[in-house]
Amino acid sequence: MLTKEQQQALRRLPAVHLLLEHPLLAPCLERFPRQMVVEVANDILAMERRRMLEIDDPTPPDPERIAVRITETLDRLTAPRLRPVINGSGIVLHTNLGRARLSKAALRAVRDVALSYSNLEYRLHTGQRGSRHEHVEGILRRLTGAESALVVNNNAAAVLLVLRTLARGREVIISRGQMVEIGGSFRVSEIMRESGARLVEVGTTNKTRREDIEGAISEETALLLKVHTSNFKIIGFTESVSREEMVEIARKHGIPCFEDLGSGVLYDLRARGIGEEPTVQECLRAGVDLVSFSGDKLLGGPQAGIIVGKKQWIDLLKKNQLLRALRVDKMTLAALEATLHHYLNPEEAAREIPVLRQILKEPGEIRASAERLMDRLREALGEALWMEVIPTVSEVGGGSLPGVELPSFCLSIAHPHMPVHRMEEGLRRGNPPVIGRLSRDRLLLDLRTVEEEEHPHIVDAFRRILK
Ligand SMILES: *Cc1c(COP(=O)(O)O)cnc(C)c1O
Repeated sequence: MLTKEQQQALRRLPAVHLLLEHPLLAPCLERFPRQMVVEVANDILAMERRRMLEIDDPTPPDPERIAVRITETLDRLTAPRLRPVINGSGIVLHTNLGRARLSKAALRAVRDVALSYSNLEYRLHTGQRGSRHEHVEGILRRLTGAESALVVNNNAAAVLLVLRTLARGREVIISRGQMVEIGGSFRVSEIMRESGARLVEVGTTNKTRREDIEGAISEETALLLKVHTSNFKIIGFTESVSREEMVEIARKHGIPCFEDLGSGVLYDLRARGIGEEPTVQECLRAGVDLVSFSGDKLLGGPQAGIIVGKKQWIDLLKKNQLLRALRVDKMTLAALEATLHHYLNPEEAAREIPVLRQILKEPGEIRASAERLMDRLREALGEALWMEVIPTVSEVGGGSLPGVELPSFCLSIAHPHMPVHRMEEGLRRGNPPVIGRLSRDRLLLDLRTVEEEEHPHIVDAFRRILK
């Protein structure tokens, strides 16, 4: 039962149709359909009604406050949820932050193809139906030396397609030390089960020898699988079968050999003193029949799974109906083609592809950038923040180059009165969000993963949280 006071108070809540005449809501009614504004207004009035019933002496909120809340709610509901973020973590391939950022040329290619019709499956020379798989096959062959190539949605799909096509209902031999899980959502054992292939694990976690593999080969063996242990390193008492040996065993027994490279680089980072990642070209030269890798890890392109290798096997993959379910869309192909084009000139790749550029950034360059950001913040905010530029190490992330530490610099920030977690939260919830790292009582922004164009946004973000 409502008390008389409650009934009276509720009656003083404005009616929706009157509320909608409030001048503050005029812009909303221009931007959004009336029905949508009415629904949001009703929701907010319902909340107010509940609030008033919960307290003894309810005062109805004034219409102006309700109008502001309606506007804010509509703005929130219609703002994009997926949006750009400034990555101050220093992790170049941050899976939670969308892995690789695309090059400018890749973005232009996506834009051009998406805004127009395209020759996605149409051969302009002959006027006949073509295949979407033709567009990047040539350049992939040229860059990797492969006989043939195929692109699917992501590398997990690539592995699934290969296993299902070549080994469904039969056995696949893999070294126990390579039964990996990547990012919680890709487990070799699970993909194997999905593919209908039977897993034969050989060796032990730290050691697999040639005899282990050879001893497991039987009539039932369809494939030898090598999985790149891309997000961890086993050190100490270890032994593994080299790529060359795997190939030799596969040849001797007449079975194909497939390597899931995970990251897959086309640019030789080792030559620049970074990591020990073999290039795709090298794996193929060693004689591996099929190699698969991601488009959005070290390659620095869009999410995709790239399969390169012997034509005989890729032709089989192309005939599998499953390919239809795993096929890439035109925007991916456009971004991938433009990204691959950079690699025709390795210097251009290192300059234009953000992933490579960030990995190859010299510490001195990063330090200078951190100092410039510090100056900009000082200029805008005076002495409100305590700041210093300090050395740090960044990692590549995304299950690539495990254990590789890239010397870097970050801006270390604190505020005399604001707890550092509040600062971190404020930046994270801003627009654009700025993601930093907490280290004791400091917020760290590693400038390896921040572009110069992003500095003004960081300054604005601090301005807003310190307001
Ligand atoms: C990352 C990775 C995958 C999964 O690739 P996605 O493109 O994320 O699907 C598979 N295998 C290995 C070894 C990887 O590193």
